[in-house]
Amino acid sequence: MRLLTILVLLPVTATAEDAVLGRVAAHFDRFGAISRQIWETPELGFHEQKSSALLRDELRANGFTIADAVAGMPTAFTASWGSGKPVVGILGEFDALPALSQKDVPVQEAVVAGAPGHGCGHNLLGSGAALAAVAVKEEMQARGWKGTIRYYGTPAEEGGGGKIYMIHAGLFRDVDVVLTWHPGDSNRVNLHSSLANNGAKFKFYGIASHAAAAPDKGRSALDGALLMLHAVEMLREHVPQETRMHYIISNGGSAPNVVPAFSEVNMVARHPDMTTLDGIWQRILKCAQAGALATETRVEVEQSTNYANTLPNDALSALVGRNMRKAGGYQYTAEERKFAEEIQKSFASAKGLPEPDKVLADASEGSGSASSDVGDVSWNVPTLSFTAATYAPGTAAHTWQAAAQAGTSIGRNGMLVAARTLALSAVDLLQDPNAIDAAKTAFEKRKAGRSWTTHIAAGSAPPVNYRESNSR
Ligand SMILES: [Zn+2]
Ligand SMILES: [Zn+2]
Repeated sequence: MRLLTILVLLPVTATAEDAVLGRVAAHFDRFGAISRQIWETPELGFHEQKSSALLRDELRANGFTIADAVAGMPTAFTASWGSGKPVVGILGEFDALPALSQKDVPVQEAVVAGAPGHGCGHNLLGSGAALAAVAVKEEMQARGWKGTIRYYGTPAEEGGGGKIYMIHAGLFRDVDVVLTWHPGDSNRVNLHSSLANNGAKFKFYGIASHAAAAPDKGRSALDGALLMLHAVEMLREHVPQETRMHYIISNGGSAPNVVPAFSEVNMVARHPDMTTLDGIWQRILKCAQAGALATETRVEVEQSTNYANTLPNDALSALVGRNMRKAGGYQYTAEERKFAEEIQKSFASAKGLPEPDKVLADASEGSGSASSDVGDVSWNVPTLSFTAATYAPGTAAHTWQAAAQAGTSIGRNGMLVAARTLALSAVDLLQDPNAIDAAKTAFEKRKAGRSWTTHIAAGSAPPVNYRESNSR
């Protein structure tokens, strides 16, 4: 009887922070197994049926209310528990990348050559976020807290921009704060941003003709494309330093002896600031028009992805940083250390010793080098994204090395750091209205009167049949 009383009292006497960490630990094996299962069945953006269903069903089984196939995307969902304010959101992703199939070994070896693989670790991202959501829900339930914890199952981060359609559908309208994380080579919280990114396919239409017998009758669509790209190369010198412009000629014609009637350029431009990028983009459009004008061809522009830069949040960064220090890193087992060192040998230059026990939380700023639709969310709701050490130092995303580690216990250790940090942070936010107010004040300050814009029109249909990668 006495023992029973102690057992019943335990969750109440422990702090919410200690208790929620216990709950993360209790569910870790289950969500670790889910992350592995998603890793074993890598699915491309908008086609993450199995991955999305695994997470959705697990959250449903844990008492969450599911809104399925939201915003016109079969693999998008939200899972909510609780009611009323505050609403704390946690973002999950689960899409894989093309041609990165990889076994969980420290040498390059595909499971199926040319097949997709989890080279960005989204199997860990989605599962770690769901693990935190379940732990937080249990803690809210045990303590009778008011408020809502909501998991966002967001498809196609790698080039479809699922979150943008979810924003347009109003799914973030009632959320107070959004937390998320990304696999990386260190445990890191700071004020870094990401690059705004805009992309389009430029389709040139000309007139086909025999290239030797009647070249005067033809108008080359490839010439239009080449002239556009020449103008882009001229432009390169006269844009702000941080600008990135990259392209491929995705269609250059069918045969050299036929004047190409069709040609296509697939192009992406990036800059740390979305407004500056918009100005640069207007000039790229002029390059395309110039190419068409001079070659008497016609150009059509088909919008592809458009991601905003991430708006840092000073208050959330401080809160999450504090919690990551509390969550702590982890130590490698001898076997894991060996694996990490083997992985490092495959780099041209190794970057430091594996030290996943370190936590790097500071207020440093930077523009980052990649792009994500988390940026779009961050202009709509106070948002904080951090990284956890799922990879040996020096591992770049979108590589076989990242894909290999995302399937191992090294990846899952990092996922646990992330889930602990997310759960502690969500508990802080749910307990303390001042913390949410501070996040909102910091949000308004960073926005400085600007608001989110996107080239993805509200009401436009998500490209759910899209299979090609536009990897971020
Ligand atoms: Zn990626
Ligand atoms: Zn990613």
